[in-house]
Amino acid sequence: MTLDPSKLTSVDEKGDRLYIIPAEVRGYYKKHRTWIHAALLAVFMLLPWTSINGLQTIWLNIPDREFALFGVLFKSHDAPLIFFLLGAATLGLAFVTSIWGRVWCGWACPQTVFIESVFRRIEQWTEGNYIERRRLREAPMDFTRIRKQGTKWFLFVVASLIIAHSFMAYFIGAKNIVAMMQLPPSENFTYFLLVMAFTAAILFDFAWFREQFCVIMCPYGRIQSLLLDSKSKAVLYDVKRGEPRKGTAPAEKVGDCVACNRCVQVCPTGIDIRNGLQMECIGCTACIDACDEIMAKVKKPQGLIRYDTLDGSKMKLTRPRSMAYMITIGIMIAGLSYAVVTREPFHWTPLRGAGLPYSYVKDESGVEVISNQFKIHIQNQERQEATYKLSLPQDILDRGVRLTVGENPLTLKSEEGHEWYFFVRIPQDLFKGQKGKIKTRVQIETTKDGAPLHSEKELILLGPGDL
Ligand code: SF4
Ligand code: SF4
Repeated sequence: MTLDPSKLTSVDEKGDRLYIIPAEVRGYYKKHRTWIHAALLAVFMLLPWTSINGLQTIWLNIPDREFALFGVLFKSHDAPLIFFLLGAATLGLAFVTSIWGRVWCGWACPQTVFIESVFRRIEQWTEGNYIERRRLREAPMDFTRIRKQGTKWFLFVVASLIIAHSFMAYFIGAKNIVAMMQLPPSENFTYFLLVMAFTAAILFDFAWFREQFCVIMCPYGRIQSLLLDSKSKAVLYDVKRGEPRKGTAPAEKVGDCVACNRCVQVCPTGIDIRNGLQMECIGCTACIDACDEIMAKVKKPQGLIRYDTLDGSKMKLTRPRSMAYMITIGIMIAGLSYAVVTREPFHWTPLRGAGLPYSYVKDESGVEVISNQFKIHIQNQERQEATYKLSLPQDILDRGVRLTVGENPLTLKSEEGHEWYFFVRIPQDLFKGQKGKIKTRVQIETTKDGAPLHSEKELILLGPGDL
C-alpha cells in the first residue's frame, strides 16, 4: 500500500474524518520517549505544588498582573523581563528546530505527551491493542462495546479533569484551587465554569481531535518549512537503500524495504514516510523503531528510516542560520540578565490622589494652606523584609512645605506591595508667579545589604494659578 502524499490520510474523499488507530511500537526511541514523557508529566503535575521563597514555583496570576517564576515575583512593570524571557524561549525553539527538526513536536509538546502517554494508554488498557481497538470500532453496539468504550470515556473524563485542575493551578494558584474545590461551585461559579470549559476542551482535543490539531491547526507546524533547511535533522526514509521496494521490481533488483507497511501502521498522523518529508510528520520516531524491528527480523542493517539531514551532511551547529539564532538568543539572555541584575530592590510610582487637584486646609497654627493628596504604589522586590522612609527634599521643606504620611517609615515583607497615601501642605504664597505648578521631588530611603539606598522621583504640586 502506498499513500498518496498529496492527500490527508485522516480524511476520506468526501472530507469525512478517517479515525487513525496507530499500531503499538517498541524500540530504542520508544523507550526513551516513554521516560521523557513520564518526566514531563511529573513536572507538569507537580510544579504548581512546589514553592520557592514562599512563592508557587510558577504562578501566572493574570487578574492581579503578577507572575511568580522560580522564586521571583514579576509585576506588570516587569514587562521587559517577560519580553526577553519569551523572546529567548521562542528563538530557542526555532534554533532547536533548525538543528533537530520537529523534536519538540514528537518528544515534548503537551499535545503529543498527553495523547501518547495518557489517553492512548487508557485506550490500550480498556480496549486492547490496535487490532482489537480497530475491530471494536467496527463492532455492533453490544454490551462488550458499551462496557469497554464506556470505561474508556469515563477514564478520559477523569484524566481531563485532573489535567484541567493542574493546568488552572498555574493561573489560579494551587492552594486557591484546593480551597475552591472544598466549596460548592456556586461560591466560585466563574472559576468553576472556566475549569469545566477547559476540561471539555482537553477531552475534545486529546480524546477525539488528536492528530488533526497538529495537521490542521498548530501554528508551529505551519512554520516548519521556514525553520528547516537541507541541513536540519528529520525523520527520513533512505530512498536509495529502500527502493525499489519489494513487490515493485524483480527480486534481484529490490532494495531493503520489504513493503511491510509497519512504518505506516504505527504513524500517529497516518502518513507514509517513504513519500518523503511531510508537514504532517511530527518527528515522533515511531516509524524508525517499527522499521528497525523489521530490519532486524529480515537480517538487514537498521536505519532504513532514521534521523538524518536531507542532504545527508553531518549535523553542524555553526552554519549561518543556527549562528544567527544563537547570537539573537545570546542578546535576549544578555538583555534578561541585565534587566534582572539592574532590577530595583523596590518599585514605586507616585500618583496624584483621586478627586480635586488641590484643596485649602488649615495648618497647626490655623493658617490656610494648599493641600495636595498623593499615593505611592510601592512594591518590595527583595527576598527579605525592608523598611522605607518617605521624605521631601530639604530645600522645599525650608520653604515651609510639609509632608503628612500615615505610616512612615513603612515596613514591607518580601514581595509585598502597598498603597502609601500622603499629603503635601504648601504655603499659599509659594504659588506666586508659578502658574499653579511647583516642581519638586519626593524621595525614599531604604537599605540594601546593609548599605543605605536612596531613590527619588518628580512630584508636581498644584495650587491656584492666579497668584
Ligand atoms: S512519519 Fe514517522 S516520525 Fe513522522 S509522525 Fe509518522 S511515525 Fe512519527
Ligand atoms: S517499515 Fe521499513 S521495511 Fe516496512 S514498509 Fe516501512 S520502510 Fe519498508
